[in-house]
Amino acid sequence: MTPANFDFHCHSSVSDGLLPPRVVAERAAGNGVDLWALTDHDDLGGLDEARSVAEAAGMRFVNGVEISIEWRGTPIHIVGLGFDHQHPGLVNGLDELRIGRIERARRMGDALAAIGIPGVYEGALCFATNASLISRAHFARYLVSIGIARDVPGVFQHYLTPGKPGYVDHRWATLEEAVGWINAAGGVAVVAHPGRYKMSGTDMRRFLDDFKDTGGRGVEVTCGSHSPDHVMHFARLARHYEFHASRGSDFHGPEESYVDLGKLPQLPEDLKPVWRLII
Ligand code: AMP
Ligand code: MN
Ligand code: MN
Ligand code: MN
Repeated sequence: MTPANFDFHCHSSVSDGLLPPRVVAERAAGNGVDLWALTDHDDLGGLDEARSVAEAAGMRFVNGVEISIEWRGTPIHIVGLGFDHQHPGLVNGLDELRIGRIERARRMGDALAAIGIPGVYEGALCFATNASLISRAHFARYLVSIGIARDVPGVFQHYLTPGKPGYVDHRWATLEEAVGWINAAGGVAVVAHPGRYKMSGTDMRRFLDDFKDTGGRGVEVTCGSHSPDHVMHFARLARHYEFHASRGSDFHGPEESYVDLGKLPQLPEDLKPVWRLII
């Protein structure tokens, strides 16, 4: 079967999405997705539920995750697809990443307290639907709830991005770790939303060289945060590096996403779709 509408990037309440895995699955099916991956940040806890609901709704399902890494000081996200979700190397690596998130969240709370906004770590925890996965998105939702900014993008802009008072540096996984865990578990590593990184063209090529050398095989070309220019640009890079191309909405919830599940343009036709490596 050739999939007509695959979506390999989205989030549930197991990380910083707003809907439980079961509801995300039903929504994807309702939107006409026929091949789907749930890719929560640094956590595999939603995959069993997502798979059973997806398959009951007639979709093919692929295990997914979005791993947070740091490459030469820049935070980058690597999507893993089609892996064994019980592989100990992957499971243990993600356990460590989640512990690191809690320690980072405490430091974010301290940094915000220092500018006169106390109790934000505790407040953000109340917005985390999975106590072991805390994201800046939970901080943003809490800060909106206490009237610090009008909406989530506003909080990011003024408080949670590099150079702003609630942003702290953090050591995420390395590129080698993330790609190594995914490959050891039999999966495919894909660069998430490459158009989002504040990197020069030279650094992007340097990163893609490293990614390929490390065993990475794919890049998101069509995704929720890519403009048509980004699509053309990363399609060119996919051809150059002979990467497989992925397509993902990065859906987090009806109120917080630009693009709904499965509602994005098709990949440029000459690219090799990443599902060919998986199904
Ligand atoms: P973290 O992985 O904890 O650093 O948080 C990153 C998450 O925050 C992303 O996956 C998005 O869900 C959210 N996020 C990042 N930047 C923005 C932004 N400018 N506006 C809204 N949400 C954002
Ligand atoms: Mn997120
Ligand atoms: Mn991401
Ligand atoms: Mn994402």
